[in-house]
Amino acid sequence: MFWQEEIETIDSKNLEKLQLERLQKTVRCVYENVPFYRDKFKDKSLKPDDIKTLQDIRKLPFTTRDDLRLNYPYGLLAVPKNGGVVRLHTSSGTTGKPKAIFFSKNDVNQSAELIARCLVMTGVKSDDILQNMMTYGLFTGALVMHYGAEKVGILVIPAGPGNTERQIALMQDFSSTCLHLTPSYALYLSEVMESKGIMPKRDLSLRRAYLGAEPYSEETRKKLEQMLGIDIYNSYGLSEMNGPGVAFECINKDGMHIWEDNFIVEILDQETGEPVTEGQQGELVLTTLCREGMPFLRYRTKDIAKIIPGKCRCGRTHKRISRILGRVDDMFIVRGVNIFPQQIERVLMSIKGVAQNYQIHLEAYDKMLVKVEIEQDFFDGNIEHLLILKSKITEKLKSEILITPKVELLEPSTLPMSEGKTQRVIDRRTL
Ligand code: AMP
Ligand code: ZN
Repeated sequence: MFWQEEIETIDSKNLEKLQLERLQKTVRCVYENVPFYRDKFKDKSLKPDDIKTLQDIRKLPFTTRDDLRLNYPYGLLAVPKNGGVVRLHTSSGTTGKPKAIFFSKNDVNQSAELIARCLVMTGVKSDDILQNMMTYGLFTGALVMHYGAEKVGILVIPAGPGNTERQIALMQDFSSTCLHLTPSYALYLSEVMESKGIMPKRDLSLRRAYLGAEPYSEETRKKLEQMLGIDIYNSYGLSEMNGPGVAFECINKDGMHIWEDNFIVEILDQETGEPVTEGQQGELVLTTLCREGMPFLRYRTKDIAKIIPGKCRCGRTHKRISRILGRVDDMFIVRGVNIFPQQIERVLMSIKGVAQNYQIHLEAYDKMLVKVEIEQDFFDGNIEHLLILKSKITEKLKSEILITPKVELLEPSTLPMSEGKTQRVIDRRTL
């Protein structure tokens, strides 16, 4: 099933033609309307007419998160703020000012179109009911999904996050079939359901859940699919690119299709800014092709991913990106070894007996402590089994990250759980 079959299955020649037309239009637009870009073009002695082929994208300047902050709040608008834009979102900055993102009427519509493609791609039909458990408000996550699901024509329950008992009651009362939430909240939800003896397959109408807004591993997906008995699809987006709907998995769950008629994808070496060899991982850099309110050239997402080679069996021709393998700024170094939190998660979630939550504490330049919640049965059981589990976790972590962390086993629900993005790494070295 397709939402817009023609564009979703477009051949490479026509796609490239469309991308070039849209790129040239976007370049002219920012050159004429955004002083920040005009100055950057001047620094490089570049004119819009110099962009003659798609390869010329490499002549264009990058845009960074700092550029957004420095031009906060209205500096990067390409249309008048009165009459040109209809919606403001901000992005979760952990430090300093947030990033302000504006949508024109067409941007609101276009972002909903992309979500509609994504939902239909996972098999959503008119009898589906979406319980939207992301935060409504300044974040893009909930509202953009909401508008997209309404466009498909399905019932949307704007539940927002939190109040888990009420969430379960909503699922029971209205027979929700799809959920949209963060992976950490999904883990918590599954824990609560388990403790209440609710078996989603038996007691609820759930079919699928869309998980995004923060990284999670394939092991976590599998664990959740097993616990909830539903299909889980990865959903990637960022406020700067509309929010959710940038890239999404189809039913084959083998990478996320990224909508190339709306975004040009580059995977670059994060240090040199040069393209990596085909199929290698690097920083995802995106150029918007359809945004009116705030178009971005070569936006450095800081997210690390790779392109999945080959064609997808679903018939869509848009490239697939891997799971987000880390964020450039999530990486931490212990004893000279570069480590991403996702590596730790992948190992933990593959070990039987490990429950849903964990935290990484960095205590001194060479000291790392991993706190892991384990299943209640293990915790209450034989001390020998507990010690075996602990050394198994330590050993497996060591073989992944090459250093030996200290491991502490905890009862379920000991560590803080978040309904939004969860803080996994507590770095006391920088506190
Ligand atoms: P925000 O702009 O606040 O919505 O945050 C966007 C960021 O969330 C992205 O740049 C990613 O780092 C992260 N993110 C969003 N979706 C995913 C996903 N499916 N997997 C991993 N990280 C994600
Ligand atoms: Zn596909």
